[in-house]
Amino acid sequence: MQDQNQAGPDALSAYFFQIADAAQTQAVGTSNALFPIIRQVLAAAAQVLDSVAGTCQSPAPECASGCSFCCHSRIHVIPLEAVVICAHVRKHFSPAAIQGLKNRICTNLTYTRGRSLAQRVAIKDQTPCIFLKHHVCSIYDQRPFICRTWNSLNRSDCETAFISGNQNAEIPCLSAPNYVYTLARDVVQAVCTRMHLETGRLELVSAMDHCLGLTDAADTFARGVTIFEDPGPAGRGRAEKKDGESCYP
Ligand code: SF4
Repeated sequence: MQDQNQAGPDALSAYFFQIADAAQTQAVGTSNALFPIIRQVLAAAAQVLDSVAGTCQSPAPECASGCSFCCHSRIHVIPLEAVVICAHVRKHFSPAAIQGLKNRICTNLTYTRGRSLAQRVAIKDQTPCIFLKHHVCSIYDQRPFICRTWNSLNRSDCETAFISGNQNAEIPCLSAPNYVYTLARDVVQAVCTRMHLETGRLELVSAMDHCLGLTDAADTFARGVTIFEDPGPAGRGRAEKKDGESCYP
């Protein structure tokens, strides 16, 4: 691997493109083959951060299993992340766990649909992330880019912000993961655009609601069909939902 510690943003971006392109080449022919793009870019980002940590005297984050203040925020994902997470759920969650997830999706949407951000912040303790179970992420290895960006340097600041509902609280955090995972996500988006795959910014809960309602979200997405946003009459067509437009009963 090229020494990314010495690299600027352009070099790091080029490195992630190189990783994504190699994964894409391996992937030709199958729909699940898209998944290595995101997984290998994530692995490369983690490797870059490991090498940075080995050379810098940066403070350790105070994030730890069981601390979940930030898992009560609104989480956004890109479409490829959504289908990867959905495929993971289908493959690794038991039928009972999938039903539990659908129930949490429905509860969350019932609380949040049509509410302003301020209203949602006021009830955030009732709307934890749908993947949070007993204060632990149930998809930790598959968690979205955005969840990887946040590494707090002060747990009590997170707690204070959570309790007060202050959306503008200044909480010290590590800048390197924020920067590297944001750049990695942007590269994956750019590669998706180049492959004529759906891109954009989706709310995790709505995306999972929609994805779990499709029988073959990953294959459909990989064929370049727009599955999350209605592309309009000139668009490429939208996959039909199996269970209608609302959350699960
Ligand atoms: S996906 Fe996991 S890490 Fe991200 S907000 Fe949800 S529970 Fe937290």
